[in-house]
Amino acid sequence: DDEKAFHGLSKRIQLITDEEFEEYTPERAAEDLRRADEDRGIIRKIRRGEFTAETIDIVKSTLVVVESPTKAKAIAYFFGRPAKRTINGFTVYEVAGGQMILNVVASGGHIFDLTTEGGYHGVIKENDLYIPVYTDIRRCNNCGEQFTDRDLCPECGSSNIRSKKNVVDLLRKLSVEANKVLIATDPDAEGEKIGYDIYVVVKPYCKDVERLEFHEVTRRALRKAFSEPRNIKLPFVQAQIVRRIEDRWVGFELSRKLWENFKVTSLSAGRVQTPVLSWVIRRVEELKRKIPAAELHLDNGLSVRLVNPPNIEDLMRKFKEGELNATVENIVFHEETVYPQPPYTTDSMLKDAAQKLGFPVGYTMSLAQTLFESGLITYHRTDSTAVSTTGIDVARRFIDENYPGLFKPREFRSEGAHECIRPTKPLNARQLRFYLSSGVLRIPQKLSADHLKLYDMIFKRFIASQMREAKVMVQEFTLKINGIEVKQNRITKILEEGFLNVNPIITTKKEAAEGTYKVVHMKVRREPT
Ligand SMILES: [Zn+2]
Repeated sequence: DDEKAFHGLSKRIQLITDEEFEEYTPERAAEDLRRADEDRGIIRKIRRGEFTAETIDIVKSTLVVVESPTKAKAIAYFFGRPAKRTINGFTVYEVAGGQMILNVVASGGHIFDLTTEGGYHGVIKENDLYIPVYTDIRRCNNCGEQFTDRDLCPECGSSNIRSKKNVVDLLRKLSVEANKVLIATDPDAEGEKIGYDIYVVVKPYCKDVERLEFHEVTRRALRKAFSEPRNIKLPFVQAQIVRRIEDRWVGFELSRKLWENFKVTSLSAGRVQTPVLSWVIRRVEELKRKIPAAELHLDNGLSVRLVNPPNIEDLMRKFKEGELNATVENIVFHEETVYPQPPYTTDSMLKDAAQKLGFPVGYTMSLAQTLFESGLITYHRTDSTAVSTTGIDVARRFIDENYPGLFKPREFRSEGAHECIRPTKPLNARQLRFYLSSGVLRIPQKLSADHLKLYDMIFKRFIASQMREAKVMVQEFTLKINGIEVKQNRITKILEEGFLNVNPIITTKKEAAEGTYKVVHMKVRREPT
C-alpha cells in the first residue's frame, strides 16, 4: 500500500542480505505447497519409523575452510547467528543454511612450506624429476618467527613453538564429521596452493571435496559459488610452487654471495627484492639528471611554468633587474571531454593510497584485506579493471539515487576471470559509517578511520568510472618571454560536472587575458627529467 515504505524496506534488506524482492506468482506458490507436502510426507515416514537412506541424508553437513578467522566469521554470519565451538584452540562456527549444516573454520594461511633440510634448498633431483619437499610450518609463541624443520626457534631459541600440524588434525577431525568439504581460500595462486594443501589433508577423510571461488565476501557471491563449485586448478598450484622454489633458490644463493662479499650475515637478497632494488637504483640515477624548470608569477595573477627554457641565466638576470616581461597572445578556447579513470587495480590503488593518503604499501594492503574479508570490497589482489554485472548494478543503484541521469555503465574489459577493486554495496563512506554504527550492517571486525579513508578512495574512483564524462573549457595561448615562445593550455571552466561530482580530480585555473605583464616572482628549480 505504501510504495515509499516498501522501497525503504527493500533497500535495507538488500544492504544486509544482498537479496532483492521478487514477484510471488501462483506458480511459485503451487511449487512451495508441493514441497511442503513432500516434507510432511517425510516427517510422517520418520514418525512411523520407516527410515531410508534417502530420508536420513536430507540434512547434509558441510565443512567450509577459509584462510582467515575474519572471513570465517563473515561467512558464518551470512546464514544467521552461528553457534561457536572451540576445538584445540580454534574457533569453529556452526550454522544452519537451508538443507545444510555449515561448519566454517580458518586454516590461518599456509600450512606447509618447503623444507630447509635435504635436497637443493628443499628440492630433490631424482633422475630427470625435480621433487619439492614440503613440511609443516612452525611458529614461535615467544617472538612470532615462522620457520620449518627445527624444534627450537631459530630467532630467539625458545622451545615454546606450535606447528601447523594442529590445523591438519583439526581439519581431519572436522572432515570426518562432514558429508562435504568446500575449500574457500582466496582467488589467486597463493589461495589455490593453500586450497590444494587442505584438499590433500582432508581427501582421505571425506570423499566429496570441492573448491569455491568468489571475489567478494557477500551472500550473493557466496551463493553463486556454492551453486558452481569446481576442482582445484593445478596450474595455479604449480605456479605457486615454482614461485616458492625461486624464492629459495634465488634468495638463499644470492644472500650467501652477499655475506661472502660484505662479511655481514644480516644482508639478504631475493627473487623480488633484488630486481626492485635495481629499479630503485636506476630511478635514483635518473633523478640525478635534472633539468631546470622556472615557475613564474605575472602581475596579472597568472602563473606559468617553463620547462628547460634556453638561456635561463639571462632570464634570471633580467628578472632581478626588474626587466622581465611576458606577453600573452593568440588566445583560443575549445571544449574538451574528460573521461573517468578505470576502477582500481592493486598497483593503481597502492600508488594513490601512498600519494593521496600517505599510506605505505604494506599498510594499505592490510587495510584492504580487512575490507575484503568484511565483505565491503572485491578481492584486492588483481590486475584487472573489468567490472562485472554485479559491480555495474552496485554503481547504478548508488548513482540513480544520488546523481539521477549521470549513470553510464562501462565494463573496462580485460583478460582473465578477475575483477577490479570496487565496493560491494552502493554506500559511500559516510553512509557506510552510519549503517555500521546504527547496527543495520554488521561486519566481523571494527573499522578504523584509515579503513574508511581507503574505502572512500576506492568507492569514489569506482562510482566515477560508471558516470558520464565531464566537459571542460580549455584556454590555449602563446606566451612570449625574452625572445622565446611557449604554448600554454589550461582548464579554466568545468562545463558539465559528470563524474567530477563524485571524484573531483580536476582543479580549474584562472583565465588569462591578452597583454604584456611584468614577472613579479620567479623561482628556478632543478627537476628530474
Ligand atoms: Zn622465537
